[in-house]
Amino acid sequence: MRWWYAIKNGYLLRKNLKKFLTCPEKQIHDLAEITLEKLDNAEIAILVLDFDGVLAAHNAKEPTPQAKAWLTKMSQTIGEHRLAILTNKPKPERLAYFAKEFPSLFVLHGVRKKPYPEGLVMIAQYRGVSAHRIVLVDDRLLTGMLATCLGYTQGWYFRPPKTNYWKNPIVEAFFSFLRVSERLFIRIVG
Ligand SMILES: [Mg+2]
Repeated sequence: MRWWYAIKNGYLLRKNLKKFLTCPEKQIHDLAEITLEKLDNAEIAILVLDFDGVLAAHNAKEPTPQAKAWLTKMSQTIGEHRLAILTNKPKPERLAYFAKEFPSLFVLHGVRKKPYPEGLVMIAQYRGVSAHRIVLVDDRLLTGMLATCLGYTQGWYFRPPKTNYWKNPIVEAFFSFLRVSERLFIRIVG
């Protein structure tokens, strides 16, 4: 039961999760903030990105034009092999997009969904780096950021998330509700 696992471990790791709400250095507000210098300062070898909310709005087939431009720039700066995507929705059209546009970028699929830390652990093993030299950028506390705590990697909480209420009002409202609820939960117990 993924949700029970998230709530149980979210409670156990509440102090760690609260830091994502209170420490500015653990937050990202715009992809443009992630630069080579920032990665070097945090000793990051592999930059792992969530998809929904970070590269595009929910259910999008590909990153927004701005996100694509930033990905292209990062690929040229640090190399595609130092980038990875860890999404709970590795849809075929997304896999096809990255295979075509960013062929050396590692898109993980077939692993248990976040907050289970397997995906992050696998990226570390596959690329041969220790977990603390990996960072996940994700817009969710009880999935992405919790996975970083459980996998002993670094995490940067992405806020505000990318949304498209015109296209998917119900889905966006649902995820907005989840984000508000998990922040409230961590603020209260943390
Ligand atoms: Mg997300």
